[in-house]
Amino acid sequence: MNNHREREGQFKDLFARLAHSPLYKAKLSGYEPEHISLDRMETMPLTTKEDLRKAGTFGHLAVEMKKVAQYFESTGTTGEPSASWFTQEDLRVGGKQLEECGVRLAADDLVLIRFPYAMALPAFLMQQAAWQSGAGVVPASGRTVVTPYPRVLDLMKRLRVTVIAGLPREMELLAETARLLGTASNNDFPALRAICVAGELMSDKRRSHIERLWGVPVFNMYGSTETANIAAMCEFGSMHIVERDFIVEALNEDGSGPVAQGERGFAAITTLSHQGSPLLRYFNEDIIAIEPSDCSCGRKAGKLQHYGRHKDRIRIGRAVLDAYDIQEAVYALSPVPDAWKVLEQENGLRFLLDSHNSGNWSAADIGSVLSDTLQVPVTVEIMDNAMLLDRVGLVNNVPSTKPIYIQKKG
Ligand SMILES: [Zn+2]
Repeated sequence: MNNHREREGQFKDLFARLAHSPLYKAKLSGYEPEHISLDRMETMPLTTKEDLRKAGTFGHLAVEMKKVAQYFESTGTTGEPSASWFTQEDLRVGGKQLEECGVRLAADDLVLIRFPYAMALPAFLMQQAAWQSGAGVVPASGRTVVTPYPRVLDLMKRLRVTVIAGLPREMELLAETARLLGTASNNDFPALRAICVAGELMSDKRRSHIERLWGVPVFNMYGSTETANIAAMCEFGSMHIVERDFIVEALNEDGSGPVAQGERGFAAITTLSHQGSPLLRYFNEDIIAIEPSDCSCGRKAGKLQHYGRHKDRIRIGRAVLDAYDIQEAVYALSPVPDAWKVLEQENGLRFLLDSHNSGNWSAADIGSVLSDTLQVPVTVEIMDNAMLLDRVGLVNNVPSTKPIYIQKKG
């Protein structure tokens, strides 16, 4: 990666760009340019979600409108939009961030993109990455009536698609649709060689599950609408931070200082190269851990592990459970559920589980397995209706919707 002096230069350039946005013009008014240095990173202010919300859609726009190529916006479950502005150069750099991924796209790849194309960033970054490596693209957007699940499976087979990219949930639902249609997802798509996922938490066991479903390696990417792609998984399963474009910190809960290496902390993301809407120490409320790399792939960039969002963290008694912990427990079950949801209750967790193989489950056994793993009281309900998963809808023209895995108390 780049040396310290180069990074220092990038950091100073970032401040020159930040000064053009209304948000940072105000936020950084008290900072003397000579005091701005990487070594003083911890003295620089954080940017919270609330800061961005208050500043409004144009608040972090740092270029003139004539330089804007694309605007992105995503809405979380809370309904608060996250937004970003991209120049043509930002799109190119964003595509390059994905080229770090161990999938190593090449000119003879045909990449089916299942990320939603409306407003959301990942589809467009994946498309850039594919084009920049010479690969072809099949735009099979999720969340639309144009490309229901059976049509996507047909496209994959008929066009001999080599890579599919989308939300992890879409990979699970496509496999379930294949099963319902009498197709073997791990056998009947011989051209498929890899899967790229992003946009949802994906624990190690969930990744193994999707690899088993499709019989190909799965590469995860970590990013957000506001920042583009921060880390990408190499061929050895490590999420390497794209250090050319980002500084990633893991901080304690109030953001006042760093947590120890490898410990769970709150992410603060600084975009070093983004022009349209650059961010300084963006406190995005994600729980992450960072470790130095000793990876077999030879990449020197630090490794990032994502544990979920702070708002999904559940405390019961002494137990502190992140979405990652719950996901690992669920995906360790046998059979792995086709659909699941966990409800936070007064003194424990209630799991709703659905599997086409649920005959192999006993609610009591599963309850004690989950309770042992998570160290909290657990009740289990095995669902045999369409509440969690509408299988009739899957094989018909029903568009996909945003899944909710963890429901906190009201
Ligand atoms: Zn690696």
